[in-house]
Formats: sequence, structure tokens, C-alpha cells
Amino acid sequence: MSENGSLLALLKEHFGFDSFLPLQEEIIADSLAGRDVFALLPTGGGKSLCFQLPALARPGLTVVVSPLIALMKDQVDALRAAGVQAAFLNSSLDAREMQARGQALNSGEYRILYVAPERVMMPGFLDALLRWNVSLIAVDEAHCVSEWGHDFRPEYRQLASLREQMPQVPLMALTATATERVRSDIVRYLKLRDPACHVGSFNRPNLTYRVVPKQGPYSQVLDFVRARPNESGIVYCHSRRGAESLAERLSDDGVKALPYHAGLTPLERTRNQETFARDDVPVICATIAFGMGINKPNVRFVLHYDLPRSVENYYQETGRAGRDGLPSECLLLFSNSDAVKYLRFLDEITDPHEREVTRKKLDEMVWCAESAGCRRRELLAYFGEEYANENCGACDNCLFPRKTFDGTALAEKFLGALLGIKQKSGFSVGAGHVAEVLLGSTNEKITRWRHDQLSEHGSGKERNRKQWAELGRELVRQGILRRDEERFNVLEVTDEGRAVLAGRGQVMLPEAVEATAKATRVRLECDETLFERLRALRKRLADERDVPAYVVFSDVALRQMAREYPSNEREFSRISGVGATKLREFSALFLREIAEHLGSNERLQFTASRPAEGMRSEPRSGRGRLGDSPASTLRQFRAGRSPEEIARERGFVLGTIMSHLVLAAEAGEDIDLTRFLTSEQGTEIEEAFRTAGWQNIVGARERIGGRYSYELLRIYRATRLAKTATVATQSLPAGAAARSRAVLRAAAVVPLFP
Ligand code: ADP
Ligand code: ZN
Repeated sequence: MSENGSLLALLKEHFGFDSFLPLQEEIIADSLAGRDVFALLPTGGGKSLCFQLPALARPGLTVVVSPLIALMKDQVDALRAAGVQAAFLNSSLDAREMQARGQALNSGEYRILYVAPERVMMPGFLDALLRWNVSLIAVDEAHCVSEWGHDFRPEYRQLASLREQMPQVPLMALTATATERVRSDIVRYLKLRDPACHVGSFNRPNLTYRVVPKQGPYSQVLDFVRARPNESGIVYCHSRRGAESLAERLSDDGVKALPYHAGLTPLERTRNQETFARDDVPVICATIAFGMGINKPNVRFVLHYDLPRSVENYYQETGRAGRDGLPSECLLLFSNSDAVKYLRFLDEITDPHEREVTRKKLDEMVWCAESAGCRRRELLAYFGEEYANENCGACDNCLFPRKTFDGTALAEKFLGALLGIKQKSGFSVGAGHVAEVLLGSTNEKITRWRHDQLSEHGSGKERNRKQWAELGRELVRQGILRRDEERFNVLEVTDEGRAVLAGRGQVMLPEAVEATAKATRVRLECDETLFERLRALRKRLADERDVPAYVVFSDVALRQMAREYPSNEREFSRISGVGATKLREFSALFLREIAEHLGSNERLQFTASRPAEGMRSEPRSGRGRLGDSPASTLRQFRAGRSPEEIARERGFVLGTIMSHLVLAAEAGEDIDLTRFLTSEQGTEIEEAFRTAGWQNIVGARERIGGRYSYELLRIYRATRLAKTATVATQSLPAGAAARSRAVLRAAAVVPLFP
């Protein structure tokens, strides 16, 4: 068997997966070739597998350095459930247990050993390592080595002694966060030798982003959480007290929630985190203290009750949603007054440089939150990554583009007042003061500076103070105003602004966003009743074994079971996440549960079952399960690879890959069309089909001058049809599906091209 073939076989046997996630294979190959590796993959990118698989591919022991004791146990439990001999050593073990593990290590019983960094410096440990035939040392959360990271752990610096002690053993450093500076610290402090660097995309395609104005935040949270029963989520709060009282109020209102913050005792913290990890409470209300330790893969939403301190924080915190790759939601309740509140604390920072950095980060966060552009693109841009698609299809601004209106007159008023003030007083002011002038206020400053004598005084009563301040920020965004470099709040009119005042420019302003917190839900379809049943079974099995639920099976696996209704071992073994050990241990129980369910419930079809009238396509062949090869293409496509890349990697021509996607779309799989088409192109194709008839693909193609391939048109048609049918079967009367977009939106199903 080729090297790659044997890796794939191991991947299926132990982990139950059919293909690698992006870069996993490359990282593993470099490591097996004996190179040092630096791997920077986003949360959910599948870092653990990068060292777990090589550990199984060759003899010897893989030592994993991991900073969190709580996580080690879960990881080891998960490996054992997958039939891998693994153990951890840390301070939670008593002397007898330590000795037993030491002996097992001496006789080579384990493939993987997790240790805390401080263990490495304990007397005798390095000598023991020499006896254990170590083949790889993996340093997880490697950014902890750097003071520039967000989680500096001095013990990490001592890990270099591993390299000195065992210069021949390759190292692998993994992290999800690393700026250039942190990256070079990792290489330097861990003494990596000419490492192969693998940096993955930071895009999290399964996350949807949404920002809504914070208005009555408690009921916004309550509504949101209540609309998602049985789903796990994190609500991030600014203060300990905030987290504490939110958890209490939610519990009083019947939503089980626990707090997590640095003010709790370590014991309380561990207990709350564990209760959450084990799905015993769905919601945790946390401060930023709740972070790195969360490897719960099925966090379905992250809600920001208060403004994050920086875009980086926002990315990291939202990143804790959807590690398992299933659709998950991120919702930020935005209020500029949160920012103003934090700004007041800035004075407490004594170091002027640090103060400036903190302020700048906050400003960027506000900027991002108020932006009308694609949130995904802006987040990625923040990390220096370019997002190529026009429309991500999964953020509020892409799904529901903000309407704009001609705000030239409003802008002129604001600019006029600002310039009037400057002329009169010789200095400029901030948006707050401009607003006071426009509103005709007679506060102390206004009278002292005689700004009540300006012609603009009292001329802007059609908007309130908050709206004028918002307008000020929008004008900064558009380059019509700029902030004074030294006095941050003070505004100056730019040349562009002067052009507007001179009547040589139009200013378009975005309309206000509604404050409803009910984000669009996108999720993999499955038989929800069966899914709940399987979840209950999983919970029981997990509790019996005293492990978190995901150690038994991930949500991905359960949802796939609740879609495909496997009825025998062979079918069960095809489920993602079912390896040899889990097949042996769990298949009978789950198969029985599925069979019992089908005994009293109908089997649901997850394909377009009732296409709307006038849209019926050619009879479809091969509905239902996809063949292995198209399924593998689909997985890679969903993992973010382009058809071109997939073709190259799999050694196929592009047409084959496209035809796989056609098969997938026609089998009812969801294909993200925005990766192929802009919304204009989508509209063009839509029109062509409407006139030529949905069954007439040749005619439709002629109408658009043959500009798109048949494959693409077929993918479009199948996707369009499936979506409409989903709406029709879910909540609309038959035939209504083809109606307006407003209807689609009301049904909370993502329209193809909103
Ligand atoms: P990270 O540490 O990078 O955040 P994890 O190692 O926790 O990521 O993996 C995230 C999720 O992806 C886990 O649920 C894991 O089981 C799953 N996963 C890892 N590799 C694969 C793969 N090749 N195919 C499918 N799922 C995978
Ligand atoms: Zn977007």
C-alpha cells in the first residue's frame, strides 16, 4: 500500500474519517519524514489528529505537551474510546497511579503520552524519556511560549531542554493563534530546526456572523437561547458580575446556565466547565477567563452580550463555536456605549504605549461591528488573509445587505456645524459636542464657548444624540472626517468632506439595523426526532463511562445517522467518526435505537421531495447516498478547497470534480453557490431558467450565450430546487415556495441570492 493509502486506512480505522482536513496530510507527511513542523490551523482545524495519526503510523512513543490538565483527560479518554493506547501524567495522579503508568511506559504500552509543561523539568523525567523510545514531541498551544501571545506560560520556555536532551527526535509545534512575532518566538524558544511551516486559512466556513444593536439585551439573549433548546452556547460578558447575574436570571427564567469567571474558586470553575462540557447545562455565561480550555466541539452559538475588547478577541471567542464543523452562530449585541465605557478605564493604564494599543484595538472592534461590509472578509483581512468571494452567504451583511439612503443633507449639517465651531473657536471638537450643538443644547460648554450663537445651533433636531454620534463614526469610516491623531475623539473634516460641503459629492448612509436577535439558522438537515433520541443514548453511554458526550460520537456522526438511517454494521461503519473500535463497541446499540425509531416513525427523505410547480426537473437518478468518490469531493469542497485544488490533489480533470458536485447537488446536498457565482450571475441564470423552463437546460444555456458550463447550471438548478422544496415542506403551503424572497427570509432559510 502506498504511504498515503496506509495513512488513510489508519485514519478510518482509528478515527473513522475518510479524508483529511486541509493541511493535515501535509503536516503528517512532513512529520513522518522526520522534519520539525510548525502548524498554524484555526480552532476546529483538526490539530490533534496531526500528531495522533503519526503516533500510530510508526513505533515509539509520541509525547504531547499540553497546558491544561482538564483537557488531557478528555483527549486521552477520546483516544481510548478510539482504541488507541494513551495516557497522561500530571499532578492529579496519586503516587501509586504514577508508578503504574511509569511501568507501562517502560514496557512500551502506550503510543501517546500527554504531559503538562512543568512535568518536563521534574527530576528524572528527561532521563525517563530517553528510555521510552520517543518518536515525536508535539507541543500543543505553542503560542504559550511567547510573551506576545495572549496566554504566556513561563514553563513553556523550558521545553527547549527536550530538544537538547533528544536532538534526534522531531518536534511539532501547533497553535491556533500566532502573529508574526509569536511565530518567531515559537521557532526560537522551542529551537525548531528549519521547520516545515503550514499555515491554514482562518476562515471558518461553518460560522455565521451577525451583529445587532444592543437594546434590552437581557430579553435579546433570552429570546435567542429559548429559540435554540438543546443547543450549547457561550454568552460572553464583560464583567464577572455581569456573567454571574446573567446566569442567574437565565436560570430563573428556566434556561439552565452557569457562570465562569476568574472570581470563582478553581474547583467551581472546573465543575462548571465540566457540567457544560457534558451537556448537563446548555449555556455558560463567561468572561474572557473562559478560553483555551474549551474543546467542546458542539458549541452551537457564541453570543457577545458586551463588546469584545478587540477584533482578535472577537475572532478567538466566536471561534469556540462549531469546532465540529457543523453550522454554528455568532451573534454580537453591539452598543457604542460599551466602547465608551471601556474608554473610561483606559486612564487606569499607566503605560502610554499600552494605553494607545488598547484604545486602537477597541476602535478597530467598533469599526468592525459597525461595518456594512462582509464580516467574514473583514475578519480575515484583520489577520492579513484575503477572502476571495464577493458574498460569503453567511453573515448578516451578505445575507441581508444594508439598505442605503442619500444622507448628503445630514452629512452637510454635521460637517457645517463642525467647521462652524472650528471657525468660531479655533479648535475642533468630538462628535458628542457637535451633536449637542445640532440639538440646540445649552450646556455649560456650549454657553461658555458661545456655540449657541452658531447658525447650526438647534438645526438638527430630526435625529437624536446617538444617531448623530453614529453618523460621525460613519463619516470617519467613509473618509469624510478623520480623527485627530493625538486627541482621539476630536474630528477634522478631510478634503473629501470639504468636497461634500461644496456640493461636489454624495454621501450614502446605511439604514439602521433591526435589533431582533433571531439570527438566520443554517443547519445540516436530519431527522431531528431521531437525532434527539440518539443524543439521549449518547449521553447515557457517556455518563456510564464518565466522559464527555463527544468522546462517544460527535454531533456530526449523530446527524449523519439521523439522515442515513444505517441498518447494518456495514452501513454504520460508513458514518464519519466510526472507526473499528467504536463500531465494535457502539454499533449494536445505535442500530437498535435507529430501528426502534423507524418502527414507530416514518423515514424522512432529505432530498427535494416536493419541488414547486413549474420547477420540476428531469427525473433524477441516483438520489440518496452518494458514491464514495463524489462524497469525498463534496467533503473537500466543503472543507474550503476549490474544485481546481481538489482536481489537482486527486489527480482528476476538473470536469470530473464538477460532475461530482452535480451528483451531490442532485442528491440533495447543499452546495454553496456563492463560491462560483456572484449574485448578479445568479440572477442572470435564474432569469434564463425562468424563461427557458427549468427542465430546458440547453435552452437556458443558450439564453446566456453559453457562458456557464452545463455542470454549473445543473448545480444551480438542483440547489435552487432543493432550497425551494425545503421551504415548501417546512413551513409554506405547497406552491408558495417560488414567491418572494421575503417569504424565504421569514421561513429562516437562506435564499440563494438575497
Ligand atoms: P483543533 O484542535 O484544531 O481545534 P480538533 O483536533 O479538536 O481541532 O478537531 C476538531 C474536530 O474536527 C474534532 O471534532 C475532530 O474529531 C474533527 N476532525 C479532525 N480531523 C478530521 C478529519 N480528517 N475528518 C473529519 N473530522 C475531523
Ligand atoms: Zn459575508
